[in-house]
Amino acid sequence: MGMPTKTILLTFDVEEFDTPLLHNIPIPMSEQMRISQEGLLNICALLKRLGQPVCTFYTTANYALHFPETIIDLSKQHEIASHTYYHSTFKPSDIHDSKICLEGIIGKEIAGFRMPNMAAFDKRLIHQAGYQYDSSINPTWLPGKYNYLKYPLHPFSYFDTMEIPVSVVPYLRFPLFWLSFKNLPLWLYIQLCNFTLARTGCLHLYFHPWEFADLSMFRIPGFIRNPDGIQLVNKLEKFIRYYQARSDVKFERTFDYIKPFILTN
Ligand SMILES: [Zn+2]
Repeated sequence: MGMPTKTILLTFDVEEFDTPLLHNIPIPMSEQMRISQEGLLNICALLKRLGQPVCTFYTTANYALHFPETIIDLSKQHEIASHTYYHSTFKPSDIHDSKICLEGIIGKEIAGFRMPNMAAFDKRLIHQAGYQYDSSINPTWLPGKYNYLKYPLHPFSYFDTMEIPVSVVPYLRFPLFWLSFKNLPLWLYIQLCNFTLARTGCLHLYFHPWEFADLSMFRIPGFIRNPDGIQLVNKLEKFIRYYQARSDVKFERTFDYIKPFILTN
């Protein structure tokens, strides 16, 4: 049996479920929190069942303040990183303040940051706030959202911080993010992941806990909603078990993976 030579970074953006607001459907904060927590507890149960493959959870400070026990519990096995303070609003000081807030809750350093919706912002703030890495680039073009085609696929130094982009298929720049996992048949998604893993050595994926809650009562677009809840949990379970069975692949916390890159820069 060889040592694992390839890495999978499973990451989750733990946040208020504000997707309905983007589609002009009102949803109170308490309901945004309840839906996300339902999904997050489904993820926690899945990871436990799978023997805790390690992950990174980017959480808003607002979410962590509502459910500190869940975040503290996750921090024992997994990495906790910042997804800024609130998901629906942003001011520059939130980058720093969310780090301080989360460190107060879990009692450990917060090394990583990811901006909601991968939105563009002043990257100098990352280093200034004391983070070790940023993960706010999906190096593809999503019409109407962003165009990050100019960025590399591999980790790179950017405004005094390491930037670790999420995965796209090399050459095609087809994003391997949550919407692809949800909408593609699993066998095809795994084929694209294998192609990417073979060429880059690292698969960096992101999901949201609210996807793993029952969303049937929300009139949001089907490609965002389906499959949801336990159906999506089962799909993720099959995906993780496929890679757990491969001796050339290991799951890592993002900071553990990126540390050697920081030291050589
Ligand atoms: Zn988000």
